[in-house]
Amino acid sequence: MTTLTPIAFVFIPQPIFWLLFIGVLVFALYAQIRVSSAYAANVKIPSRGRITGREAAEAVMSRAGIHDVDIVEIPGHLTDHYDPMHRRLALSSENYHGYSLAALGVAAHEAGHAIQHQVGYSMLKARMALVPATQITSQVLPFIIIGGFFFGGLGGVMLDIGIICYAVLTLFHLVTLPVEFDASRRAKAELVGLGIIDRDEMPGVTQTLNAAALTYVAAFITSLMHLLWLLSSRRD
Ligand SMILES: [Zn+2]
Repeated sequence: MTTLTPIAFVFIPQPIFWLLFIGVLVFALYAQIRVSSAYAANVKIPSRGRITGREAAEAVMSRAGIHDVDIVEIPGHLTDHYDPMHRRLALSSENYHGYSLAALGVAAHEAGHAIQHQVGYSMLKARMALVPATQITSQVLPFIIIGGFFFGGLGGVMLDIGIICYAVLTLFHLVTLPVEFDASRRAKAELVGLGIIDRDEMPGVTQTLNAAALTYVAAFITSLMHLLWLLSSRRD
């Protein structure tokens, strides 16, 4: 079996890239549908313990000795996140007040990020270090894309800037993968360990968290494809 290295990809003709792009797009859409349907299904299943997402996040962090992180309720659907800069754990209303398997999975996952921060998990540190670079990238990239559109493609310095932007984004999405998988792993162990969720309820939690993980994989592959595509343009 032959394996394609990224260098080999660079020499693949453009039509093959279009097919790969379509494949990646279909996968990204599939991941989005999976996360929506997994959440919708498990948000309807109440946990037997009736502990809310807020209480679960508090319990998980408390067991890890974290008492200085604010848990706040925020608007929106699946807007949940942990903000390491402000030591703030934000839960959407559904997950803050809810005691469904989905709500507990998401809340414990965010608490998992707080634990990563507390213990100085290296991949989280790397991800945080990359945030300023990704912020600059997100400001530069629209100009590059608009420029490429008007000039019928990228060339010279514009192409090189585009390559740097996508290299930064690809690295960021790559580092995000272990961070997200590890947070979900910690979440599942803590929910069972603290007795918030019974073992037979875990499939619902796992299904929700696995579906969310797929979207991060999709983001990484999408970014990687853009990077390889720009690199291949440089060879033409
Ligand atoms: Zn996460």
